[in-house]
Amino acid sequence: MRLRNIKGAGEAVAASTYVVQEPEQQAGNWNTLFGNTNPIHIEIGMGKGRFLMTLARQNPGINYVGIERYSSVLIRALQKMETDPLSNLLFLCIDAGCLEQIFAPGEAGRIYLNFSDPWPKDRHARRRLTSPEYLSRYRKVLDGSGHVEFKTDNEALFDFSLESIEAAGWKLAGCTRNLHLDPEMNAGNVMTEYEEKFSAKGNPIYKLIALP
Ligand code: SAM
Repeated sequence: MRLRNIKGAGEAVAASTYVVQEPEQQAGNWNTLFGNTNPIHIEIGMGKGRFLMTLARQNPGINYVGIERYSSVLIRALQKMETDPLSNLLFLCIDAGCLEQIFAPGEAGRIYLNFSDPWPKDRHARRRLTSPEYLSRYRKVLDGSGHVEFKTDNEALFDFSLESIEAAGWKLAGCTRNLHLDPEMNAGNVMTEYEEKFSAKGNPIYKLIALP
C-alpha cells in the first residue's frame, strides 16, 4: 500500500480510546476488556477498517479486534469510529508478528487476512501473513473450532498460501479462485476497500478458509 504520512496520526492513535495501548498486558483478558464472554475475531492488516466495521455492526454478539501497523492508515478507521462508534470493536497499532504476546492460547475464534501484502521476493517470504511462521502463531491463539479466512487478488500469494497451509498440516474448509462467481463461498461476503478496487478492475478474488 502506498503510504502517505499523516501529520499527528501517531499522537491521535496513542490518545484514542478505541486503540488498546500496551496490548500485551491484555493477553488472556480480552473478554474482560470487552465486558462480555462473546467470541473474539481478529483482522490482521485491517487498513482503513471498512470490512471490520461492517462486520461489527452486523454482529453485535461478536467482539472484533483490528490490527494495523501504520498509524497513518489506522487513523482513517478512528475517524469513522468517531461518527459511528461500535462497542464491540477495538484496534491495535502493532505489527502482527507479536500476536502470541497479545492473545492467550485459544483466545481467538477467527482470524481474517484480507489483501495481505504479497512480499514477492523469496527472501521476504517469512513476512507473508500466510507463511508457516504466521500459521504457527495463528494455531497458538485460535480456539479448538477457530479458523483463518484469507482473501486476495494475488494468485502467486494464494498459491503460496495453499502450499503453506498443506505443509503445516492445516485443513482446507473452503477454496475458490473466483469468489464473486462462487455463490456458496460468496454468501454474506463483506467487501474490503482493496477488494472493491481490484474487482472493479476485473481481477478475480481468491479466498480460502483454513482450520489448524
Ligand atoms: N485489509 C485491507 C483491505 O483489504 O482493504 C487493507 C489491505 S492493505 C494491502 C494491507 C494492510 O495490512 C496495510 O495497511 C498494512 O499496513 C497492513 N499490514 C501488513 N502487514 C502487517 C503486519 N505484519 N501487522 C499489521 N499490519 C500489517
